[in-house]
Amino acid sequence: MVHTTCPYCGVGCGIVATPDGRGGAGIAGDTDHPANRGRLCSKGAALGETLSLEDRLLHPEIDGRRVPWETVLDAVAGGFRDVIAEHGPDAVAFYVSGQLLTEDYYAANKLIKGFLGTANIDTNSRLCMASSVAGHKRAFGADTVPGLYEDFELADLVVLVGSNLAWCHPVLFQRLEAAKRARPGMNIVVIDPRRTETCEIADLHLALRPGSDVALFNGLLVELHRRGVMARKYVERHTTGLDEALMAARAGDLESCGLPAADVATFVEWFARAEKTVTLYSQGVNQSSAGVDKVNAIINCHLLTGRIGRPGMGPFSITGQPNAMGGREVGALSNTLAAHMDFTLEDVDRVGRFWRSPKMAKRPGLKAVELFDAVKSGRIKAVWIMATNPVASLPDSGTVRAALQACELSVVSEAVRASDTVDACRIRLPALAWAEKDGTVTNSERGISRQRPFLPAPGEARQDWWIVAEVARRLGFGEAFAWNGVADIFREHAALSAFENDGRRDFDIGAYAGIDDAGYDKLAPFVWPASVDGTRVGATNGGRFFADGGFYHGDRRARFIATSPRAPMHAPSAERPLSLNTGRVRDQWHTMTRTGKSVRLAGHRPEPLIELHPDDALARGLSDGDIAEVTSAWGRAVLRVHLTDSLRVGDAFAPMHWTAQVSRAGAINAAVNPAVDPISGQPELKHTPIEIRRLDMRWHGTILARRPVMLPEITYWARAKGAGYYSYLLAGEQPLGVARQALSAAVRATNPGPWLNGEQGVGSVISDGQLEAVLVLGPRHDERARDRFAPFMAMDRLSVEDRNVLLHGGDVADRGGEICACFGVSTAAVTAAIAKGATSLAALGAVTRAGTNCGSCRPELRALLRAQRQREAA
Ligand code: SF4
Repeated sequence: MVHTTCPYCGVGCGIVATPDGRGGAGIAGDTDHPANRGRLCSKGAALGETLSLEDRLLHPEIDGRRVPWETVLDAVAGGFRDVIAEHGPDAVAFYVSGQLLTEDYYAANKLIKGFLGTANIDTNSRLCMASSVAGHKRAFGADTVPGLYEDFELADLVVLVGSNLAWCHPVLFQRLEAAKRARPGMNIVVIDPRRTETCEIADLHLALRPGSDVALFNGLLVELHRRGVMARKYVERHTTGLDEALMAARAGDLESCGLPAADVATFVEWFARAEKTVTLYSQGVNQSSAGVDKVNAIINCHLLTGRIGRPGMGPFSITGQPNAMGGREVGALSNTLAAHMDFTLEDVDRVGRFWRSPKMAKRPGLKAVELFDAVKSGRIKAVWIMATNPVASLPDSGTVRAALQACELSVVSEAVRASDTVDACRIRLPALAWAEKDGTVTNSERGISRQRPFLPAPGEARQDWWIVAEVARRLGFGEAFAWNGVADIFREHAALSAFENDGRRDFDIGAYAGIDDAGYDKLAPFVWPASVDGTRVGATNGGRFFADGGFYHGDRRARFIATSPRAPMHAPSAERPLSLNTGRVRDQWHTMTRTGKSVRLAGHRPEPLIELHPDDALARGLSDGDIAEVTSAWGRAVLRVHLTDSLRVGDAFAPMHWTAQVSRAGAINAAVNPAVDPISGQPELKHTPIEIRRLDMRWHGTILARRPVMLPEITYWARAKGAGYYSYLLAGEQPLGVARQALSAAVRATNPGPWLNGEQGVGSVISDGQLEAVLVLGPRHDERARDRFAPFMAMDRLSVEDRNVLLHGGDVADRGGEICACFGVSTAAVTAAIAKGATSLAALGAVTRAGTNCGSCRPELRALLRAQRQREAA
């Protein structure tokens, strides 16, 4: 049994992995881990299905040819050396990731900022929480998350802003849900233009106009002040700038939020009354061209009321990635230096002396979007990407692909064999994956946990820090990177955090600078700060910051920030009147390189979607299930239409997970605008003006095949993992007969055997009595086709009767999609149980088992129960 940490979201759940000796492992929640106490969500629980070596990059490659490590490391070092010699250090860049462990992050940041002499390193966390970092620094003087997870459980009011906690941080949602169950008097407010699954436990949902968060929190600030809901002593002793903030806030207009006045009044009343208030915010706040102001408008309200740093109170930024916080600690954002230090003369000198650096970067580097713009323009001539997929995840992603393809030296360190980014890079370095990596991660409450390997390194894959250190050695910096293992790096990172600190910097884990290897191996989760002498503010206040001031500006006071509402950078127009919001679905993670391997996670949302309000659909002649083209000024995507009244009229929503690896044109970031917040550089992923039009498909189809099919050029396809096969959903504009011929040839090319035609557009390959592949085409989309054929793929041998049913008929009920990933329970089964009288989660669980394991589907089960109650009441 190995105690490790989940590699997905910023909750940072502890996991116990039990290797099975055959390359797999049993996965369970760690009951001792403070973040989850044994809970896991659907993604964490399915980690055991993602461990296979299928699709792994196992050997170094240059231009598609396998080469030895020596050759590839020489090529990377030589390439970077030559570019720097000819064009200077700012002609090179690293683009790293919140998937890296802290030790990997530390090594990459040290090499580029301390030894190559440029700060052109940015992390994909720029897309996730850079606005929170900037907001914290403006208000607190440091990037400090003041509170802890337990504050949600202790609060009387929890305000969730721009956060679909139920799907994006499910275990934290479950903790909140349990707290609400135990103390029904606790109020929960969700502020989000969409009615998400998180609203199922909300007492109030404020579906504000996209981008109007600053107006709402400014209005709240003014009203709290008017009512005298103010911690006068705290404000006087520990803050400055209230008058300016109030003046700016008074100029605002609450009506611009588009909310019912009574709902706003309730929100203000609850906020005014509840001393114990936590405001949790996430990507809906951060991913905006006004993200930093939104963060500060929220923090202003907590400073005014002094609700910060005490149990059950505070603003709380929750991160998307497992180690976004670790990246912040090592300084892997281009505008931070290391250990929460900046590019001040003093900090550059301090870090330079600590690293014994020959060539310190002296000013901030380029942020993610501008970094790839510089690659495109040729200003950056060598780029090294580690553990991330910017061709799929950055906005205006077509530009990123073109930039990489044109770059003189493009290097990627990756665990997977194929991704949109791997495909675009010349040099490919095989990196270890989650189950093999060793190091630490930091979760959203500043909790540092060990990630421990439980499977051996496969092929020639190596851990990222080792690759960085080997390149550094070839560049002549061997001494500074002569680590014998991750514990060495952790000790150095901890020592830097304490170096000439004296309480002037929040991030301090100096207590661990002298940890020995055995101690590091056994390291239990801990929340920082942890200073050598144990006197840091966090360590003396249950792990919280700022209850008694002690901010990190020079005068130790916090700053109120004057904020004014700003419309999104690109306004909807007559040509593109809809506002596109992008985000996540419950059972997928980022660009699906890992969750896409899991069969049970594929059932919930098997294809890329565009969600639309029925009124907007009607105006465009769109129906549920249509294939539609989404266009913006930057690009296009082709997606399945899903109608829902959980959106405001005029808004659309698309998940960001699908890539060119698993869909024809499902990568929504191709259409997302590249506008960024002017301070944080975080892209505005939540607002792009778009138009949507129906594509007239002449046929729709489904393929189930044991081996991947090289599809011909068709308008729409999306691939998902089945149990021992791949499933494809297809649609096209060419005549049905032409499509049938091309597709059956494509299926047979990789799934050889006799082809048998059946009725209703069914064709199949059956070899040695086993179904190798089945194709069904028809004029209409048939949601049931996958469910109809999946049982035949599971059979070792088809009987004559089976063949008859497969080819000639037999209908199946519409399952309506999968709702419970743990037990494969369909929406139809849940609906049937409700129709038969199940009126509670417990009753549904007893009848169907849905919701009785990880609990991730409970918000959707609640929604179905609520819909039934509404029907009965009507
Ligand atoms: Fe992993 Fe789920 Fe926990 Fe997030 S909530 S860390 S995805 S198990």
